[in-house]
Amino acid sequence: MATVEVRDLRKRYQDFLALDGVSLKAESGQLVTLLGPSGCGKSTTLRCLAGFLEANGGEITVDGESILGTPANRRGFGVVFQNYALFPHMTVAENIGYGLKLQKLPKAEIETRVHDVMKLVRLDGLRDRLPRAISGGQQQRVALARALVLKPKLLLLDEPLANLDARLRDEVRWLIRDLQQQSGITAFYVTHDQSEAMAMSDMVAVMKAGRVAQFATPREIYQKPIERYVADFTGEANFIPCQSVIPMGDGRYEIKAAGAKLELSGVPGIAGPAELLLRPEALELTSPSAGTFAGKVTKSAFLGAALHCEITLQDGSVLKLTAPPNHQVAPGEEVGIAIDHSHAWLMPEVAP
Ligand code: ATP
Repeated sequence: MATVEVRDLRKRYQDFLALDGVSLKAESGQLVTLLGPSGCGKSTTLRCLAGFLEANGGEITVDGESILGTPANRRGFGVVFQNYALFPHMTVAENIGYGLKLQKLPKAEIETRVHDVMKLVRLDGLRDRLPRAISGGQQQRVALARALVLKPKLLLLDEPLANLDARLRDEVRWLIRDLQQQSGITAFYVTHDQSEAMAMSDMVAVMKAGRVAQFATPREIYQKPIERYVADFTGEANFIPCQSVIPMGDGRYEIKAAGAKLELSGVPGIAGPAELLLRPEALELTSPSAGTFAGKVTKSAFLGAALHCEITLQDGSVLKLTAPPNHQVAPGEEVGIAIDHSHAWLMPEVAP
């Protein structure tokens, strides 16, 4: 298996700098996700890894050796795209075995390996079908099988689930993660879907305009984002400007925000204006007098598994809150909001 390191990668398209110093690392057997909005450079990074694009600067190493001089077809990587790119005139089995045939392996070995990988991705029974005669989810599994059958050193997946409907996306997502973990293949995965990134990855690189804004575990990215951009991109979030942040020693801070005073520990010290990050599930409805904040319910929606509310505080700021589904509140009701302090986080404030 392979440890892969990308250091200060730069890529220019004519006069547009698409990658402006991307650095990240996949330890052997890890799945690393590149997450970010359209145009931030995810696919460009993946294409440089694959060898389809030549970088203008920086370094990519596999187990410490540079691969920048190695052509794509000699890197030994498996690549899976969103549009499958199957050969339409070849059967499922022929599509999967094509790469092995190019390697001129004996027919019997090709047969066995294709058979085994089809079982692994649960395609048995479909070997003689043409791609047009199977579903989108099955086509994506053929694309996955075609990459895995070559026993690649590194698996590169570019939005592989984008063309599948929500239910199938879930199913194939678990399958990919299962296979990747079972086989211990190091993998890079491109997506703009934060829940996909959180569910599948060992590490997430949140990308912003050709750079990595934060590279950390899904839990850290969600609970301890270094800036508002990362917090916003990884889930629902409330940001409350702090009037003051006073260090009290031992890593504790006294914070005044939205007319309330609270004490936090384990948060970073921020030089300059700061804001509180409170995820909706870190807030709890209480009686109006019992909470840290008090306000009025301005929206409430029952979503089956949870109740989503919006509470407008006395200073006019609006907080999103997720409550258990058995709670019942109606717009106009006065409520209090308690904060789970272990889930409050401090970040530099972004000017509006
Ligand atoms: P998406 O999710 O939309 O695929 P992405 O994050 O994968 O986006 P890239 O495809 O890496 O983004 O593109 C990064 C930037 O480089 C974009 O602004 C894009 O318009 C630009 N770009 C990509 N390919 C080319 C090209 N061949 N020529 C010029 N500019 C390009």
